[in-house]
Amino acid sequence: MDMEKFIKNMPKVELHAHLNGSLSTKTLLELATLEYGETNNEFQTICRNFQQNQEFSLDECFKKFPIAHALTTTKDGLRRALLSVIRDFSQDNVVYLELRTTPKSTTKMSKVEYLETVLETIRLADSLYPDICVKLLPSIDRSKGIEMAKETMSIVTEAMKTQSDLIKGIDLSGNPAISSFDEYGKILSDAKNNNLKLALHCAEIDNSDETYKMLQFGMDRCGHGTFITSQNLNIAKEKQIPIECCLTSNLKCGTVKSYVEHHFKNLYQSNHPVVLCTDDPGVFDTTLSDEFIIAQKTFNLSTKDLELLSLKAVDVSFADSVEKEFIKQKISKYFND
Ligand code: 5GP
Repeated sequence: MDMEKFIKNMPKVELHAHLNGSLSTKTLLELATLEYGETNNEFQTICRNFQQNQEFSLDECFKKFPIAHALTTTKDGLRRALLSVIRDFSQDNVVYLELRTTPKSTTKMSKVEYLETVLETIRLADSLYPDICVKLLPSIDRSKGIEMAKETMSIVTEAMKTQSDLIKGIDLSGNPAISSFDEYGKILSDAKNNNLKLALHCAEIDNSDETYKMLQFGMDRCGHGTFITSQNLNIAKEKQIPIECCLTSNLKCGTVKSYVEHHFKNLYQSNHPVVLCTDDPGVFDTTLSDEFIIAQKTFNLSTKDLELLSLKAVDVSFADSVEKEFIKQKISKYFND
């Protein structure tokens, strides 16, 4: 079997994907047609252009999300979007997915309803797509301010009373150029005390003071970690903080210059825990298979490397021990049969 096919068929683990960034152009068009009818050409054109102009900055990237957000303002739209995303990951042979999303209030739905709809849909997907296990990491969007973050935490805490099998952690994301991490420490400590793991976007832009504070604060996984260098790198290594590497996202946002220069290389070669992730497969027109194929070709990874990377992803996931064992068996079977 050729390597690309081998990777496509490989059971994969996705730990860093944002719901509204994961909608493919096809799904956006379907949702737009249902929402506005066939004749709304303006929105159809926006959706078609969604993945065009792929060389953009991080700021430009954040301007793309409202296109998806406009189509997930109703319970129906959100449900359809989420089912499409889970189907797409499952068709890419992702067997375990930790999906992130910021609960939003819209004119049609409260934040509580947003979270409930996401959780209900994940349960529904369990019967429709039985080969993939999906968990949720509600996101705190740091660009929306601390009051919004408190509200999100209180809703998540309430939901945890009955849905802790699905809600596994908290993601801190949103435009890192807006607001300071200091404001979020107390809320994230509360999350930790409530048995939630922390997956924090950190060092996505070059801000070594903030990166230092975040690494000292601690986290269970670090999103991107692009600008973790020198002393901060030592801290990340001492604490063995796993880093979620999103090759194409970083390249297309211009935070790394080329695939070859991606920080994945040094981290992997120095035996630091790393995982390959898509970030926003819809926005960046990628899949987890594509990311593995790119990594395999760029860094000359062997099938043993692919197996070790996949098993490491299970280790650093927020699944429980029984789930981890089950996924590991699937992966080992694929590589060793
Ligand atoms: P949602 O939470 O609406 O389901 O997914 C889209 C949101 O995820 C964006 O509005 C943004 O807040 C967050 N997001 C997606 N990709 C990135 C990224 O690469 N970096 C950061 N910091 N946030 C992101």
